[in-house]
Amino acid sequence: MKYIPTIGIECHVQLSTKTKLFSEVDNDARGKEPNSCVSPVDYALPGMLPRLNGEAIRLAILAGRAMNCEINAQSRFDRKHYFYPDSPKGYQITQFYHPIIGAGFVELPSGTKIRIEHAHLEGDAGKLTHFDTYSLVDLNRVDTPLIEIVSMPDIHSAKDAHDYCKELWRLMCYAGVTYGDLYNGNMRFDINTSVAPEGSDKLGTRTEVKNLNSFRSVERAVEYEIERQTKVLEAGEEVVQETRGWNDATGKTTGQRSKEEAKDYRYMPEPDIPPINLSAEFIEAEAAKLPMMPADYRAKFSSVLPNDILEILLDYPELMQKTNEIDEKYVKTIANLFTSVLLAEEKSAEYLNDLPSAKDLNELAEMNTQKELSSTATKEVFLRLFDPQMKERGAKTIAKELGLIQENDLGALEAIVDTVLAKPETKKAQDDFRAGEEKVIGFLVGQVMKESRGKANPSAVQEILRKRLS
Ligand code: MN
Repeated sequence: MKYIPTIGIECHVQLSTKTKLFSEVDNDARGKEPNSCVSPVDYALPGMLPRLNGEAIRLAILAGRAMNCEINAQSRFDRKHYFYPDSPKGYQITQFYHPIIGAGFVELPSGTKIRIEHAHLEGDAGKLTHFDTYSLVDLNRVDTPLIEIVSMPDIHSAKDAHDYCKELWRLMCYAGVTYGDLYNGNMRFDINTSVAPEGSDKLGTRTEVKNLNSFRSVERAVEYEIERQTKVLEAGEEVVQETRGWNDATGKTTGQRSKEEAKDYRYMPEPDIPPINLSAEFIEAEAAKLPMMPADYRAKFSSVLPNDILEILLDYPELMQKTNEIDEKYVKTIANLFTSVLLAEEKSAEYLNDLPSAKDLNELAEMNTQKELSSTATKEVFLRLFDPQMKERGAKTIAKELGLIQENDLGALEAIVDTVLAKPETKKAQDDFRAGEEKVIGFLVGQVMKESRGKANPSAVQEILRKRLS
């Protein structure tokens, strides 16, 4: 029997606001001491009143539009009650009944559309670090603004799960709502997987794997769950509905806690924060600030760049945005330098933060197109544009200083060729060529290159040599 997997994904995105969702404390705790970015509002000391951060609303509108979602004119916060040591309030402020972002969809590069059920705003929890006999609590992350994006169960393969998470990451980064730092958990994925016999009109029992923070681990965890659940069903047993943990080292999921029934969080409207009412004009004015999205870049560049190059560039928003500033006639040359030279460099991550100006890149591409620079020399000048000691001088000056400009002046080249042909040590090669030995042309081109100190354009040189020797 064939089994069909069904996957739904919840994704938490940390918004890159300056301050937290309900207090005026710094929202960016990177590199700061534990518990140094915390306000009494964050842990709800008696008498503290939360105040909603307007920037989070604006970013939620952008995030929603990036996913083709309705933005709800009215939304509201609720308290979700539970006890956990990293959440001193005893509840999370979230949107349960009236989320700010309604239904929409995300289109994968393959064209498959994954529907979005809704997305809501909420505050993050703190962080626990466990040791042998004790645990440490860090509240820096408490009430960092999140949007939780809930997909419909429209995903049916590990690859589509991977592609969906990656496309979400791209959408959120291009929309500028998050730093998108996956390593530090700026986006975290919870995957719900079930399998059911082909043709069945009911979904199978699902398991949930929480807090994955790489596309690769999403793909592997889904693959593992599909295989595991299929084996369970084939053995005539039943899949247990439970939360499972992913172990990246073993490549396996293991049971953590079973959910016999839905938990009762005693949701109630958050009494300290009034409902959010957005006018249609405000929503449209904010949504209009959405910059170019991956779909826009695909539409603009699909006739200029091969698909694989375009998809690589889309993985690096800085490169895609810079490519967009390049003269259309040079886009292909620069895109190739980005994908084949820059990304192959050891320091590429560092380089991405400090890309050369569009003016320098255009100049470089022009020299290449005019054959003033060979392809090797083009790469060399390109890399010097990242060198703090040299970059200020610009592409043209660097190329000149390094003596890389090719000699294209026909008269000058002919003169050099003639000098070389007059040298006694090239006499034998000339005779051999005339006698039909084709390959000695390489030796002669080499001699001319040497004479020109590497500046001659080799293909022009070869043409002149053939003419002279015929
Ligand atoms: Mn959540």
